[in-house]
Amino acid sequence: MHVPFFTFRDFPVGLQQRIEEALLTELRKNQLILGPSVTAFEEEFGQYLGGGDVIGVGNGYDALVISLRTLGVGSGDEVVVPANGYIATINAVQQVGAKPVFAEPDGHTYNITAETVGPVITPRTKVVLPIHLYGQSCELDALLTLCRNHGMELVEDFAQAQGTLYGGKPVGTFGKVNATSFYPTKNLGAVGDGGAVVTQDAAIAHWVRQYHNYGQSRRYEYAQVGINSRLDSLQAAVLSVKLSCLNELNAVRKRLASQYHEALAGIGDLILPVAPAGPNDHIYHLYVVRTNRREALQVFLQKKGIQTLVHYPVPPHLQPSYQHLGYRQGDFPLTEELASTSLSLPLFPGMTDSEQEYVVEQLKSFFP
Ligand SMILES: *Cc1c(COP(=O)(O)O)cnc(C)c1O
Repeated sequence: MHVPFFTFRDFPVGLQQRIEEALLTELRKNQLILGPSVTAFEEEFGQYLGGGDVIGVGNGYDALVISLRTLGVGSGDEVVVPANGYIATINAVQQVGAKPVFAEPDGHTYNITAETVGPVITPRTKVVLPIHLYGQSCELDALLTLCRNHGMELVEDFAQAQGTLYGGKPVGTFGKVNATSFYPTKNLGAVGDGGAVVTQDAAIAHWVRQYHNYGQSRRYEYAQVGINSRLDSLQAAVLSVKLSCLNELNAVRKRLASQYHEALAGIGDLILPVAPAGPNDHIYHLYVVRTNRREALQVFLQKKGIQTLVHYPVPPHLQPSYQHLGYRQGDFPLTEELASTSLSLPLFPGMTDSEQEYVVEQLKSFFP
């Protein structure tokens, strides 16, 4: 049997057809950049998130860069990011001229917390930029309190957590300004690049609407020197369709995760993802297990036709691109351990029970 890590065969009956129809309809409208479909999606996603402004942009990285710019983050500022985060988030901090400062994650949720962020705060820290990693919400109350006490802003990277709740409220609405990505494999994925900035602050929203479209205030009048980072209409049309069943797709992921959890408990040295009871929610963008035999397991599963991935094999502080920060092996022991032991198992909404049973069977046969 072949089990892919992810496939677009992830749709409930009829969804693929609705997406194809939406694309064709959009194409025939003859308005491919900005326009009514983008506005409609922005409004729908804003409503889904419980209010606030959504501004579609070119991709998740741009959404992060723009979010940081709205707060005036730049040279001389520090931004706290997860040491085990995705490179895009760190690059965004670097791009605006600020210094990324890494915080270790919590050993159970793999998210940064007030306890791990506290020790790396300095008088220069302007923003705390958590990622709701793998789809699990961070402990936002404690992070918000920490930010308030130190005059810092919170900016959420919720690229992996569209639809995740914290205390019953969607993540991506807690920070002053927040960023997400619609990269095709995300839970709310487009059929190309896309992203969004989300804020409850009308002045910030107004600034972003100009900035992402060359700074345009009225047709051919430019209030500021902006950039070009726009969500295109084809993506917006697809995203409206996907958004209409996002909760359904996330529920399927949760069911698959709990099935893995039950079937894999106590096998070998496997450490399964932990989603503590409480305000946190987990929508399993990724189902990440840990084992000391990661390399061997990955090769074994590959031979059995099961595709797995590693998120992420080399942490940012050890990347060639971040040598200038002066970190070394050993500086973030937990992050480094996660990088060498983590393995993401196949999990996508269209995964069949027999595919999942096959993965479980092979995992059981690998561990004596
Ligand atoms: C995917 C992702 C991004 C970047 O999104 P792009 O749209 O690919 O630029 C940023 N942060 C996190 C946590 C992501 O998972």
